[in-house]
Formats: sequence, C-alpha cells, structure tokens
Amino acid sequence: MDSARRERASTLLTAALAVALVLLFAMSLVFASDPTGRWMHGGSGSTHPDLPADIASAPLAAPAPAPSGSGGYKLLEFEDDASGVPVRWDPCRPVHYVVRPDGAPPGGEQAVEQAVAQVEKITGLRFTDDGTTTEPPTMNRPAQNRARYGDRWAPVLVAWTDPAEYPHMAGYAGLAGPDAVSGGSPGSRRYVSGVVYLNRQHLSEVATWGDGRQRIDSVVLHEFGHLVGLDHVEDPAELMYRTPTAQPHPNGFEVGDRRGLAALSGGPCFRDF
Ligand SMILES: [Zn+2]
Repeated sequence: MDSARRERASTLLTAALAVALVLLFAMSLVFASDPTGRWMHGGSGSTHPDLPADIASAPLAAPAPAPSGSGGYKLLEFEDDASGVPVRWDPCRPVHYVVRPDGAPPGGEQAVEQAVAQVEKITGLRFTDDGTTTEPPTMNRPAQNRARYGDRWAPVLVAWTDPAEYPHMAGYAGLAGPDAVSGGSPGSRRYVSGVVYLNRQHLSEVATWGDGRQRIDSVVLHEFGHLVGLDHVEDPAELMYRTPTAQPHPNGFEVGDRRGLAALSGGPCFRDF
C-alpha cells in the first residue's frame, strides 16, 4: 500500500534481522553450554519430569522424504561436533504448545495453525494444542514451570508481543528457538520445549499491506522452522533466509528448508525421561 512506509519497515527489519542470527546462535550456545541449568533452576528441585502419558512406543507419524535438487539448510544444534547428528525433537511424543493470543494481528491465529500443520506434515512430528495461556514471554524461559504447567516440560510458548513488553523484539518480526536437554550420555540431547515470539506491533502493520497475510504466514512458518531446529541460510530463495518478511513464500518451506526438516526428522525416541 504505502510503499515508502513499507520500504522503511523492510529496511529496518533487514538491518535488525541481520543481528538475529548472531543472537539466535548465541542463545543456542548458551543453551548448549549449560543444558541442565535452566530447568534445574526452575524451582522444582528435582530432576526430569515423569514420562508423559501420551508417549508412544513408535514414532507418531512418518516424515516426508527429503526432496531432491539444490537448496541448502543449516541446523541449530548437533549432538557433538564430530557426529554431525542433529539435536531433534522426540518423534514418539507430541510437541505440546500453548498460545498467548493477546494482540494477534488479523490472520495470526490461522498462520499459527497452518505453520503447525505444515511442520507436522513434513517432519512427522505431532503437535498438541494445550489451549491459551496468560504466560508472558520472558528471556531464558525455564523448560519446566510446575506451578503453571505441572510435572512436565513446559509446553512451547507461542506469544504475540512487542518491544514495549519484550525489549529484545525491537526490530524483529519474530524470535524463536527450541530448548534442549541432555540425558547425560552421548547422543541423548533432545528438544523438550521452546518459544515462538511474534512481533504483534510490526505484523499488525504488515497485515495492512496488499500481500500482508502471505507475509505473516511466512514469518510465522519461519519461526516454527527455528523451533524444530533450523538455522538461517544465506540463500534468499529459502524461507529460512534471515529476513522472512522480505518475500512471501506461498508454498511455505522451500526445497532447502525441506531438506533441513528431513534431517531433523526421524530422531530417536527416548524413554529415560
Ligand atoms: Zn529467523
């Protein structure tokens, strides 16, 4: 619509999102350097939550095969530097999530539903919607919050927020990442929780653009890509390019993104916790 305003917003985001990779990577390094500290500090005083009641003895669904062709991807975390085995979500149990819906832009709720559906279809992971929450977004959110969620890993928090509430959101369309813990043996790190924070201020403006809905869909899907373990790539053709707002992706994840999601699929099922 207003191309000058839109250009300004895009430029701001391009500049700001250039920093996002560094921050996201730094965040994952913090997680990696102290995999257990975050939930140990969560106040439970105990170790891991019990096995969930909805755990299955086999993967809940089969992932899609990796597409052929070119298109690269990067993954956020590996079990160790030598193995090349990525840290993944456990495919034998659903990924639980809650939504803090306050201030969602038009089309925002549908964008989350579509992102979940596309990630499920490609990875074979299954998501369980635990409903809405009043939990606000926080930095270093603990992977357990017994007072709010009981004896289990905290469900992924999907929250619409803005820089006034969450200052780190300044200049970003969204921030997201998974939360890994280790079972103590090699190859036992797995994602158990995470966050998807979406900039309701910026995306409410995007919603007024001609192709705003498509751009919101792309931003939300991009953030869910981080949640399942994808990092940024330098190729602007991929959804996981560092500036998802710059270009709508009507098909969602592109070829490289899908190959990355295939690498994140089919992980081991854990029974230790
Ligand atoms: Zn990103």
